Amino acid sequence: MRIDFLTVLPEMFESPLACSIMKRAEQKGLVEYHVHNLRDYTTDKHRKVDDYPFGGEAGMVMKIEPVDRCLSALRAERDYDEIIYTSPDGELLSQHMANSMSMLGNIVILCGHYKGIDHRIREHLVTREISIGDYVLTGGELPALVIADSIVRLIPGAIGDEQSALSDSFQDDILSAPVYSRPAVYNGWEVPPILLSGHEAKIAEWRHEQALERTRLLRPHLLDKLNADD
Ligand code: SAM
Repeated sequence: MRIDFLTVLPEMFESPLACSIMKRAEQKGLVEYHVHNLRDYTTDKHRKVDDYPFGGEAGMVMKIEPVDRCLSALRAERDYDEIIYTSPDGELLSQHMANSMSMLGNIVILCGHYKGIDHRIREHLVTREISIGDYVLTGGELPALVIADSIVRLIPGAIGDEQSALSDSFQDDILSAPVYSRPAVYNGWEVPPILLSGHEAKIAEWRHEQALERTRLLRPHLLDKLNADD
């Protein structure tokens, strides 16, 4: 997979892409990251990528030209499966979306800034708009990294033990069961005895019950969906 990030703040990508699974996936050759500074694609002599909004609204708007020029340069080299724009009013990111996007080949993630991007970019150049939640952040860089992380960890081989990602919350539309590690007793706080029993079938049954119970308590709407699918 190849992910191209379009941004006015390329430095925001340095640390997240150089740590943990995001980095290891790149080292294993499973993914390539390319971060493009939109200021490199403007013809403005001051490298400005924003301008005043028509109609006199407050705030600045990201201009079409640098985005269009950057996308044209990338598309001249290869095809892209999705040109994603991070937007608070986009589809809400979900595990199901991450699962399907992890099977794509090349994607672009465009990070907005200021008041947002000139709407014609959304109408003519973007193929998908994704939100990471119903709140507004300063820019699309953190959402782009959240989207990329949710995808990259699902690429086969990215996580050492693939079963681990499959038992995470939301994979089967239920939450994950609680996890424990050594010591078995700390401060008098005990690990559930079943986990120390060595009885695999009973442990699996306990985990499933715990997962259902936590889902009932914390995300009951997921169970409605599960029951409706049956
Ligand atoms: N005026 C916009 C609105 O009300 O929808 C918000 C602009 S926000 C300050 C700047 C940029 O941050 C957006 O263009 C978008 O790219 C990104 N952004 C902010 N919140 C986001 C969210 N919840 N999900 C995805 N992207 C977000």
